[in-house]
Amino acid sequence: MHKISTKLVNGGNDAAMQQINTINPPLHRASTVLFDSYSDMLKANCGQFEGIEYGTSGLAAQKAFESAMVELDGSYGCKAFQSGISAIAMVLMAFTRQGDHILICDNVYGPTRHFCDGFLSKYGVKTDYLPSSAGADVIDFIRDETKLIFMESPGSNTFEIQDVPAITSICREKGVVSVIDNTWATPLYMNPFELGVDISIQSATKYITGHSDILLGTVSTNERYWETFKKCCGLFEAFAPQEDCYQALRGLRTLAVRLKHHELAALDVATWLSEHDMVDAVIHPALANHPQHELWKRDFKGSSGLFGFTLKEEFEDMDHSLFVDNLGLFGLGYSWGGYKSLITGGKFMRTNHFGYEGKTIFRLNIGMEDVDDLKQDLSKSLQKLKK
Ligand SMILES: *Cc1c(COP(=O)(O)O)cnc(C)c1O
Repeated sequence: MHKISTKLVNGGNDAAMQQINTINPPLHRASTVLFDSYSDMLKANCGQFEGIEYGTSGLAAQKAFESAMVELDGSYGCKAFQSGISAIAMVLMAFTRQGDHILICDNVYGPTRHFCDGFLSKYGVKTDYLPSSAGADVIDFIRDETKLIFMESPGSNTFEIQDVPAITSICREKGVVSVIDNTWATPLYMNPFELGVDISIQSATKYITGHSDILLGTVSTNERYWETFKKCCGLFEAFAPQEDCYQALRGLRTLAVRLKHHELAALDVATWLSEHDMVDAVIHPALANHPQHELWKRDFKGSSGLFGFTLKEEFEDMDHSLFVDNLGLFGLGYSWGGYKSLITGGKFMRTNHFGYEGKTIFRLNIGMEDVDDLKQDLSKSLQKLKK
């Protein structure tokens, strides 16, 4: 019989290894993963082991979530990361090298821009910005060194749509990698691979997990770019936390129902706001007056719960905290896609000319509250600007 210390180290492990056939994937906590034999370890030592060799390889919950995303995206492979921005950074690092030039849509998520300007630039990768509503005109921006085009449609805060198929067909012709941040639509409302995109990114922090309590990102690629991408992830030993992958998989189970609610509730509030006497423009791709509404109708199957609006000229220079700080149901905070309604606001900077220069754009995340209560909250708080 073993002595006490040995019992403490090994007790219970055999029972824990028993396979219990739960409906959801097991949650492993592991750095070390045990090999069945020394010969497997020798294979792992020289990178030839096919199975899971270490915690960073991606454990059960991560694999389960990634394989669900492959099915949903219709991609060849998918990898999960600890946040949306780390997913974005990995793509940008995997497909660029010193001397390359990349093109990023101007309405891209702020931290994506900061990563290009502040990090890639250090390694000799030059970034230029495309107009937010770019299409076939990308041809004028492509140089011999252009390696990658990064789209986000609709883009952050200003919600312009790009002509994705026009861009991807040029990318194909020129051998440029096409990437899209598809967080707003999710794979349910827009399928990038059907529009010729090579790589699709999700901030699963938003709709996929849906409860504002998790940070997670995914990258799905087509067959052509999978090996290159996988190799770069391997060098970083990038992985995603198990509990978060588990919750993301759980989020997928209800995504269609939640997204439908966000869609209808946001359309209701957006339509109401567009008739409000203090509102100048409602910026929502599914409204007929959006400048790229026809493109949205052609390429998207639905809209989600995030949109913007501006106030009429006479309210522009007022102290907007009178409005925002009086809101009772809208939390003042970043991120979106969760059950609670949120507001952000500010003046947005772009490299190229765009339609809202100098204007404050308020951005609403419409959550799961009763829509009439939300409208009343907005209405009451907007009135505060009137006196
Ligand atoms: C939030 C967001 C991201 C980044 O996601 P995190 O998980 O918060 O890092 C990327 N793209 C878009 C469009 C986003 O809104």
